[in-house]
Amino acid sequence: TTFASLGLAEPLLRAVADTGYIHPTPIQAQAIPQVMMGGDLLAAAQTGTGKTAGFTLPILHRLMQTPAQGRKPGQPRVLILTPTRELTAQVEESVRTYSQHTAIRSMVMFGGVNINPQINALRKPLDILVATPGRLLDHAQQKTVDLSAVEILVLDEADRMLDMGFIRDIRRIIALLPRTRQNLLFSATFSDEIRELSKGVLNNPIEISV
Ligand code: AMP
Repeated sequence: TTFASLGLAEPLLRAVADTGYIHPTPIQAQAIPQVMMGGDLLAAAQTGTGKTAGFTLPILHRLMQTPAQGRKPGQPRVLILTPTRELTAQVEESVRTYSQHTAIRSMVMFGGVNINPQINALRKPLDILVATPGRLLDHAQQKTVDLSAVEILVLDEADRMLDMGFIRDIRRIIALLPRTRQNLLFSATFSDEIRELSKGVLNNPIEISV
């Protein structure tokens, strides 16, 4: 398999070539076609498997295929939730790398830092928001972010988010999203809690495990 044979848009193939990747990893080969088609995904994958590009590339492809319509600032089309500020920053860095030849805008948001620069950043157009759950809820309550236009939700390292006690925050966030959307869940392990979360969030997902 090559990235080109997966049918990714040309600006994304160029970004992949810039990074020096030759072949998709197993999770990328499985996840990219499913996410490109708009389907839900339940993936068992550790870090180091290439999962970040596995969800980021097809999400960027979908955003490029369907232009945003009449959105206001502070309204992301894609929400990626991660457990920690480090992971949030890493994922957003990947999003930036893979979107470098596109007009897609991303933003990172986490707690423990002053909220005002984030509020200012949210006044600009935004496609992809990568956030930790607590700070995102703060913004939602202050109405500095509007989640009513989210088309795709990603729960990255969902098992760690549950371990860190984020389940209530995650459920509150999901209640703010449109009912019709695409959902992707990545987890290193599959506990009963993860199974239950998946059942509530995912619609007819394909399951992949690497
Ligand atoms: P991740 O599992 O998303 O944290 O990615 C782990 C590492 O693999 C990152 O440093 C990526 O840059 C790298 N990587 C991702 N996809 C590929 C690929 N197809 N070929 C080579 N390296 C990759």
